[in-house]
Amino acid sequence: MKLTNNCYAILGIGFIPPWTVSSGFVVGEEKTLIIDSGPNYLAAHTIFGYAKNVKPTNEIIVVNIEKHLDHIGGNSLFHENGIKIYGHPAISRNDDDLIVDISDFNKSILNSKRKAAHEEYVFYENTRIVNPGAHVKNGEVISLGGNTEVSVIYTLGHTPTNISILVKGEKILYCGDLITSGYLPNLECGTKDDWNIWMNSLDLISELDVEQIVPGHGKIISGANIKFEITRMKELLNEAIINNKAPTVE
Ligand SMILES: [Zn+2]
Repeated sequence: MKLTNNCYAILGIGFIPPWTVSSGFVVGEEKTLIIDSGPNYLAAHTIFGYAKNVKPTNEIIVVNIEKHLDHIGGNSLFHENGIKIYGHPAISRNDDDLIVDISDFNKSILNSKRKAAHEEYVFYENTRIVNPGAHVKNGEVISLGGNTEVSVIYTLGHTPTNISILVKGEKILYCGDLITSGYLPNLECGTKDDWNIWMNSLDLISELDVEQIVPGHGKIISGANIKFEITRMKELLNEAIINNKAPTVE
């Protein structure tokens, strides 16, 4: 979906239920920046197709917004096409991580015949680990040609590698899993210290002059809902810090 002149979101990419994953892209005069490559090779094809189609003559570049594989699983497609992938310097995943994700996917299959047939491998076909080959710094500005530029903001907490992409000129923020719109946040991969850092990152983005936020999961957040979602996330984090327990622990 088109959000503004140059900013797009791709929502609803399939993942382990009830999750969908988001991607998006920003189109400048010379370059198109894709934000996240999706969970698998197939999703990357879809993202690549949409992004390429808006301005086919543009050079494509990719940035990973965090290290979890639902955001970087499609990297191999872009790598095969000679496309440069940027990300936080601490993103370093390996094939063992992918094996764990594939096995988690099998656990989510309800039908016993499909589970036994290992249909998770259909979802992950051709997917392999490719880490970002170029790094981004906090505050770095990436020019996409013409007047279009984006800034990198480190918004750590969910993982130590989370960044956000701000398109100041169009009041858009791609924030990854800093906000999981409508969903309970995934706090189980971190500790109380990480959750405090996460709170600080939410405070940081609440100061920004933005009209629409593309979260890592869930629908676009706009207008008054921005404050509502940030408050909801902070309340859940606060509760987790007090109880020292993630809200999704059963
Ligand atoms: Zn995610």
